[in-house]
Parts: sequence; structure tokens; C-alpha cells
Amino acid sequence: MTQPLILLAALAMPATVAPAQADSTQAAPDPIPQLVARLDLERYKATIKGLTRFGDRRQGTDRNRAAVDWIEAQLRSYGCTDVARLKYNYQPPGQGVRPARDTTRASGGGRFRGVRARTGVNADSLKQPDVRLRALDAQASTAGAREEVYCTKIGDTHPGEMYIVGGHMDGIGWGEAANDDGSGAALVMELARVFSSPDVRTDRSIRFILWNNEESGLNGSRAYVEQRRALQGTKDEPKWLGMIQHDMMLFDHGMPRADGTLATEQRPEADVNIEFQASAKFAAEAEQLAWVFQRANEKYATDYPASVGSHMTNTDSAPFQDYVPAISLRENERGTQIGAGWDPNWHQPTDLYTTYSDKDFRLGLNAAQTTLAALAGLVGAAIK
Ligand SMILES: [Zn+2]
Repeated sequence: MTQPLILLAALAMPATVAPAQADSTQAAPDPIPQLVARLDLERYKATIKGLTRFGDRRQGTDRNRAAVDWIEAQLRSYGCTDVARLKYNYQPPGQGVRPARDTTRASGGGRFRGVRARTGVNADSLKQPDVRLRALDAQASTAGAREEVYCTKIGDTHPGEMYIVGGHMDGIGWGEAANDDGSGAALVMELARVFSSPDVRTDRSIRFILWNNEESGLNGSRAYVEQRRALQGTKDEPKWLGMIQHDMMLFDHGMPRADGTLATEQRPEADVNIEFQASAKFAAEAEQLAWVFQRANEKYATDYPASVGSHMTNTDSAPFQDYVPAISLRENERGTQIGAGWDPNWHQPTDLYTTYSDKDFRLGLNAAQTTLAALAGLVGAAIK
């Protein structure tokens, strides 16, 4: 019933209000709503679906390498043509004895509340009932050379300063890694598409990167930090202004019930969780960055709100957190919520494109709107 009221309010405007004059002192219209409108649910879903054609995209396999090639082709087709690959070598750690982790405390430093359900990584191929997908995911990972792809939107006035926007493209668990992390990878690709449009300019640069080897221990992002941190400020690497990671964007059905089951539908109060790490060297700056994103969500995201937390953990922003303000966006808090079993598809054969409804995909779209809007402000985006 709000629509007629708005119309009445508009009709009641005094007739003396003149239309806006096009004089040079007037601020240009805010370009961010127009940029946000260039994201849409069906395109976002199609990009996730495209990634799931390569199964779980486990690092060190042919299906992972084929997915990297496909992502690069997509980035180029969007006009994000300043493309490169980071190359590194991955050797899995030996089977040494790992110290047992205290599972009464959430990773990242948070505190568990309420009901917890079990979590784990599925390693049993036979738990994948779809024989086509089981075959697609069958090739095992082999150690050795790895590549991950990125493309850069070059800023007009400060090309030597950039924000890094990431999501990991590899997955595990004998499914399609649709949510973890097809949803985050697709978000980064959709942002690369919008910012690479020929009519969009920015003051500062943005690097869109699709990390590999996240699931094996953040090895792709660690390799990037090791190889490129000292190059900042040279012609080979712009100075890093911040790192924004996206990892598992779709599923916020709430806390498990006492019997360990979850609600079948997205909860109406679902939110985007923006996290920084309180123990990081750049914690204060990262916290400020997180609130910039929260405010951008409040102003521009269409459906779901965002909340800020201080326990960012277990994703590719971690290797950056002591060098630059680093945050992550997720469906839930990683430590206290995902770590307590809030996502029953996490690293499971059920992490399939068909598992999710439009209400789930829409949460990811709202995270995309949030990052797009915040970033557009930070880099000084404008439509020519
Ligand atoms: Zn992930």
C-alpha cells in the first residue's frame, strides 16, 4: 500500500519547486545506482552455472585448469582485457601430526552460541549420487605447477593504486562447489564485467582475481602476497589499498535446530556478513573499510542488509591482513556460524547449482551490489 501514498506525496509537492537547473555548480548525479542496476539475478546465476560445468574444480586437476581458461575467456569477453596469470608451485604438506585444534572455540576468535551441528569435508565419491558428476570430479589432484587468473581495471588518475577484489574458484567435496565458491567467484566476475564496460571510468585501479588453491590452505593468495608484495609502487604492481574477499555468498537459513536440521528456505532476516580480523596489524583500517561496505549496503543493496563482525578467518584475505586493510564478505560469519554447521552443503556433494533457490542466489546478488557500490565510491567511478 505504499505506492499510492508516494504518488500522493509527489502530487502534493509545491508547484514553485523548479526542475533542477543544469548549471556547472550542481553535483553530477550519483552514478552508483546506475552501476548497481547493471547487476542482475539471471546473469549472476548464469555465471555460477558456468563455473559448475567444471564440477568441483579441485586444484591440480584438468577440470580446474579448464575452469581457469574459461574464466579468462569470460573476463576478456567483458572487456577486462588487462589479463595476467600468477604462476606458483604447490606441494601438499606431508602427513605429519597436526596439533589438535580447540573445537570449543570458533576459528577467527569468535564465541559459539546456541545449537551446533557437525561440519566436515566429504571425501567419499560414492556420496555423490549423480554418476555424471561423480565421473567429472574423479580425477585426483597432482602436485606441481599452478596458475590463477586476474584482470585489472586501470584507473585514469591514480593507476598505481588499486583495490584487490577476490574470490576462490577451486572447490572440494564431490559436488559442484556452486556456493563454495562458485558464488564468490561469479560475484567477482560480474563486478569485472560492470567495471570493464567502455563507458565506465575510475580514478583508481581495481584488480579482479580468482584465487586457486584456497581449499588446500590459501596457497594461491599466499603465493600472490609472497611474489608481489615487495613490488608495490613499481611499474609491475600498483600499491595495494585494500583486499576484499568473497567466499560462500548464498545460504543463510539460520542456526541448526536442536535435531541438527536446517530450515529449507532462506530466512527472511538473512544478511551479508562483512568481517575484518581484530588481531590483524591493519585491524583499525580494516574495520573502517568494513563499515564503508555496510553503509554502501544500506544505501544501495535491494533486499538484504549487511552486518559487520571482527573475526574474519579461513579465506584468501588472511594472507593480506597484516599488510593492508582486508575484509571478507560471506553468507554467514565463518567462525561462529558456518563453523557451527549453519551451511549443511559446505564441502558436501549437495553443493550443487540446483540446491539453491532464487532467494539464496539473491543474497549473493546483494553482496555483489554491496561490493560494487562500496568500490565505486572508493575508486571514484563515473559513467562517461
Ligand atoms: Zn570457500
